[in-house]
Amino acid sequence: MRLTLIGTGSAHDPDLPNASALVEGADKTILIDCGFSAVRGINRHVTDPDRVDLIVVTHHHPDHVFGFVPLIDHWSDSGRTKALKIATTQWGRSQLESLITLAFGPLWRPKFNLVWHVVPDEMQVGDIRIRFAPTLHSVPNHAIRFDVCGKSLAYSGDGAPTASSRALFVGADFLMHECYVADDRDAPGHCNLPTCLDVMRECAVGRLGLYHIHPDHKDPMKAAIADHAQVCIPQPDEMFDL
Ligand SMILES: [Zn+2]
Repeated sequence: MRLTLIGTGSAHDPDLPNASALVEGADKTILIDCGFSAVRGINRHVTDPDRVDLIVVTHHHPDHVFGFVPLIDHWSDSGRTKALKIATTQWGRSQLESLITLAFGPLWRPKFNLVWHVVPDEMQVGDIRIRFAPTLHSVPNHAIRFDVCGKSLAYSGDGAPTASSRALFVGADFLMHECYVADDRDAPGHCNLPTCLDVMRECAVGRLGLYHIHPDHKDPMKAAIADHAQVCIPQPDEMFDL
């Protein structure tokens, strides 16, 4: 399984694209989130319009979904024919369908079918088993776990952990976790560094990647993880093979 990070930034990061990533199994490709500033990076990594089999949406804030319509419009114009699966909540589906209508009017459809999967139901895409668990965010957000051939990758989306998301992360080889602040201050609807480190220990996670960091906390975060060999702050375009 390969993880390719497209963006790692928080909503309004002046330098980093919105958090988004590609996950590849043997023959399937999954896109996690597609915020407004992630689209350029997605287009750079996804040059074949048929490449992505599934889009998984963690939650529906603009920095996670406002690239959705430009993306499917681009793939439609580029000759995509393969049906596209989209995994999200019922409300998420209605938001994305409304965005399509707002952008292009009620009659427009891409030249391929959209196939909806309701989160948090478990799903299987090729050799990739996908499970979900809610986190604590200002809107419903689901953390995701991908398992392929005994290897596991987890991705928190936004929000502080819950008992369910901690259970989802247990034994993950690699966990990408949102980490908005570098100290123990409470950031409502977000996670801080001490909590991320606690999750890593309690859930016996092999390696922890931190992302969605508040711009003012990037340098303190770097300094704070210097002594933690298992913790990193991945950058856009970085790849991890599991
Ligand atoms: Zn959010």
